[in-house]
Amino acid sequence: MRTDPHLHYLDNAATTMVDPEVASVIARAVQTLWANPSSLYDPAVEAQQAIDTARARVAKTLRCRSDEVYFTACGTESNNMALWGAAIPRRAWGSKVVVTGFEHPSVQLAARALRGEGFTVVEVPPEADGTLDTAKFLAQVDKNTVLAACMAVNNETGAVQDIAALAAGVKARNARAHFHVDAVQAWLRLPIDLQAWAGVDSLAVSGHKVHAPKGVGALFVRGSQRQTLCPPYRGGHQERGLRPGTENTPYIAGLGAAAAKGQQTLRVRARQMADLNARLRAGLAQLPGITVNSPQNAVPEVLNFSTGCVNSQTFINYLGTRGVYVSGGSACDKGEPSHTLQAMGCDERIIRTALRVSFCADNTPEDVDALLEGLRAGLQELQHI
Ligand code: PLP
Repeated sequence: MRTDPHLHYLDNAATTMVDPEVASVIARAVQTLWANPSSLYDPAVEAQQAIDTARARVAKTLRCRSDEVYFTACGTESNNMALWGAAIPRRAWGSKVVVTGFEHPSVQLAARALRGEGFTVVEVPPEADGTLDTAKFLAQVDKNTVLAACMAVNNETGAVQDIAALAAGVKARNARAHFHVDAVQAWLRLPIDLQAWAGVDSLAVSGHKVHAPKGVGALFVRGSQRQTLCPPYRGGHQERGLRPGTENTPYIAGLGAAAAKGQQTLRVRARQMADLNARLRAGLAQLPGITVNSPQNAVPEVLNFSTGCVNSQTFINYLGTRGVYVSGGSACDKGEPSHTLQAMGCDERIIRTALRVSFCADNTPEDVDALLEGLRAGLQELQHI
């Protein structure tokens, strides 16, 4: 995917480069699948078939039925659709929403906005290591709870949450409550099995984290829940009325291609990611004063650490001059202090000097070494706070 050997792109949790195979599926679809998939003549049937194929491919990666997958414009839309779509119709019998204190803004702010609709929203903070205490979360779920949500993998630390236990626990406390999972960072990094996660009612994924383009995503909605979810807007019958609007056939086909490829390579990548992560951790241990903020159970793709002495933005700029691209946390926070590290109770210095590295299969040991070299030099050259 990468052609420039001097480019060390280590911010794949923010976005990934589009896979050339995915790009060519999209380019072909733009040229050939031009018809409106809802029309009745042959070219339209072809476009509809491409969408059906993509739906089956995405469903296979989630171990769910094809008709439980709805295409959307992005992870943000999928999360908003699930939260508001589930909460509003349940207002007739309940008013409590329970989410974690470290959700992506597309869940956190969507949940908070439900306060304006009369809901009480409880945010359960993570433990100091960034993981969620399942029992503490479940203790908040009661008969008045209409909606609960927890992300599968945190975008800033890579912390993995025990979705199976949370799903079973939410349903045991209140079978009518909707349980939503933001799996944008988990998809095609960890195996997802919605047959095993029987208590998960909806789950969001996004294309641009898995080498498809920005502007396409999907929402799984369990068949039994479809009728209890209201659509975000009114329109045509597309996506069986849950997400109206003429389908983006080329990008949906691209998402399907990325899903199929991501599934085929999941096992091989797991080994490669673990090796890169181990190399980075070993290198960081040789540098003075580094604190690793990611928990032990984090996915190997993501490693968050703090230098303790150089402001995040200063270090990001410095590394950028050496062709090494990392972030200070979530790209959506645009340089604001990390709300995940804040929720973990990290002290000010750790938060202000945090860096997030996130790998994909294109990364090599040389990328890690370039980063470590940049960190070593920067720790000497840059002004300490
Ligand atoms: N959820 C998580 C955990 C994310 O990391 C992101 C993007 O960074 C999103 C949701 C939003 O996805 P999108 O950028 O496709 O709207």
